[in-house]
Amino acid sequence: KLDPAETRLLIVGLGATGYSAAQFLQQTPIKFAVIDSRRNPPQIDSLREQMPDVPVFSGGFDQSAFEVATHLLVSPGVSLNEKAIHKAMQAGVTILSDIDLFACATDKPILAVTGSNGKSTVTTMLGDMGNAAGFKTAIGGNLGTPALDLLQQDADLYVLELSSFQLERTTALNAKAATVLNLSADHLDRHDSMTDYAQEKQRVFRGDGAMILNVDDPLVMAMKDPARTWFGFSIERQADFYLRRGEIDQLMHGDHVLMNADELNLEGSHNIANALAALALGHAFGLDVNAMCRALKKFKGLPHRMQKVADIHGVRWVNDSKATNIGASIAALQGYRRKVILIAGGDGKGADMTELTPIVKEKTKAVVLMGKDAALIDQALKGCVPTHFAGTMKEAVKIAAKLAQAGDSVLLSPACASLDQYKSYADRGNQFAQAVLELS
Ligand code: ADP
Repeated sequence: KLDPAETRLLIVGLGATGYSAAQFLQQTPIKFAVIDSRRNPPQIDSLREQMPDVPVFSGGFDQSAFEVATHLLVSPGVSLNEKAIHKAMQAGVTILSDIDLFACATDKPILAVTGSNGKSTVTTMLGDMGNAAGFKTAIGGNLGTPALDLLQQDADLYVLELSSFQLERTTALNAKAATVLNLSADHLDRHDSMTDYAQEKQRVFRGDGAMILNVDDPLVMAMKDPARTWFGFSIERQADFYLRRGEIDQLMHGDHVLMNADELNLEGSHNIANALAALALGHAFGLDVNAMCRALKKFKGLPHRMQKVADIHGVRWVNDSKATNIGASIAALQGYRRKVILIAGGDGKGADMTELTPIVKEKTKAVVLMGKDAALIDQALKGCVPTHFAGTMKEAVKIAAKLAQAGDSVLLSPACASLDQYKSYADRGNQFAQAVLELS
C-alpha cells in the first residue's frame, strides 16, 4: 500500500497501460505525474482533457521529473535499462507496475497466465469457463483491457494475461492459481538471457496460490515449489490434466474422461495443451468441470492464431500471424500432416533461427521469406528446403500460390515480430487474408 503523504509517483509511458494507471490514481489521494519519451504519446490528448491538473512531460525523459519521484510505474513497453530509469533505481526509487496497483485494489480472486505462447488463448478460454460456471469473469492485462480498467467491471473473478515485461516490475501479485504455460526463446533483444527471461516469468508464482505446471516443459517444471499445491498438465504423459491417446484421443482429469479431443474446434496439439492448462487453472480455483468443458466445446479460437482463411483449389490457407517467436511457429508446424509452404520473416528479435531448421525440413516443401531478418532465416535454414524472397505480403502470397498444389497448406507463421513492415501482427494477418482472397 502506498502512503499518499510519502509518495510521488511517476508514470513512465503514456499508452493504454499508463493512461489506465493515471485514471486509477486520479481517484486516490496519491500525487503523480506522467512522462513519455515521444512528443505525442497515444493518450496525451485524453489525459490533458480529462486530467488537466496532472503534470505531463513528453518528448524525452526529463531527469528532473525522475529526481522528485519516489516510485516509478513503468509501462511494459519501456525498458528498465533506460538510462533515466536505471539511474533512479540506483538512487533507491521503487519500481512498480499497474498489476501491483490492481492487486492491491481488489480482494477478488485472480488467475494469472504467462508463458511464451498461448497466453491469450488460455486467458480467453478461462474467461468463457468462469462465465459458464456462473462467475462474473473479467479478462485482460497484456491482452485487451488494461488490468486497472477491469476494476470498473466489478467482477467475481479476474483472469490476467501477463507478459514478462509486466512481471519483471510486479511484486504485489498473489494469484489464487497461476501458470507459466511454456518457455521458448522470445524478446531476447530486451532480456539479457534466457535465464533472465525465465526468472521474470517465474514471478507469476509470487504468493501462495496453486501452481499450474506444464509437465512437458523442463524449464517450467524447474520452477516447482514442493511446499506449494500444484497441478500438472501434459499432452505427452499422464498428469493431473492430460491427453490420453487412443482410438479416440481424450482429455482426462486423473481417471475421469472430460471430453474427446476432437470436440475442441481448434487446430494443433498445442491448443489441446492450452485447454488442459485452462482446465487445471479453473479446477484449482474451484470452477465446475462440466461447465468448463461446455465452454471449451464452444470456443472458436482467436483471430490470427491458426485461423483458416480459405480453401482454394484444394490448397488450405492459414493465418498464424500471431506467431511472433520461434516456439509458436514450431508448434504450428508440428500440427501438420499435409505438406506446408511456410511464409515467415520479420523482426526476429535476436532469437537463434537455427532452432526452426529441423521442423522446417520435416514439414515444409518451400519457405517464402520477407522482412528485416529474411536473410538471417535463410542462412539458418542452410538450404534444407528451397527458399524464396518477397518484398510485400501480396508478393509472398503470389509466390506461395505458384508453389502450392492441391492437398498442400500455405501457412503464414512468421516466427518474428511484424513491426519492421506492418502496424501490428493483426495488420500483417489482415494483409495476408486480403491477398489470399484476391487470389480467388
Ligand atoms: P500469446 O498471448 O502468448 O502470444 P496466443 O494465444 O496469442 O499466445 O498465441 C500466439 C501464437 O502462439 C499463435 O501463433 C499460436 O498459434 C501459438 N500458440 C498458442 N498456444 C501455443 C502453445 N501452447 N505452444 C506453442 N505455441 C502456441
